[in-house]
Amino acid sequence: MTPEKAIEILNGYITNLTKFSELGEENEAIQVHRTAIEALERQIPKKTMKIKGDWTDDPRCSRCNRLIKGGYRRIYCPSCGQQYEEEVKEEI
Ligand SMILES: [Zn+2]
Repeated sequence: MTPEKAIEILNGYITNLTKFSELGEENEAIQVHRTAIEALERQIPKKTMKIKGDWTDDPRCSRCNRLIKGGYRRIYCPSCGQQYEEEVKEEI
């Protein structure tokens, strides 16, 4: 199963859990599903980002903004664990 499919299924559970929770408040079960989704999202490769006017040419993690020196050689952000597409830089 791909992370994308697992996220889709977990979001379906969140929808159902929200229907049955009182006043739609976030209960522990919903929070557990959201935490799982966040972990799965980090397995889906994202583009690193470059910020116009940044003091460095190194790309940054698009999730936590950490500098990734020689980013194309790393697969994961050492801070948050986000996976990257190799050799892709997105300028913002
Ligand atoms: Zn990061």
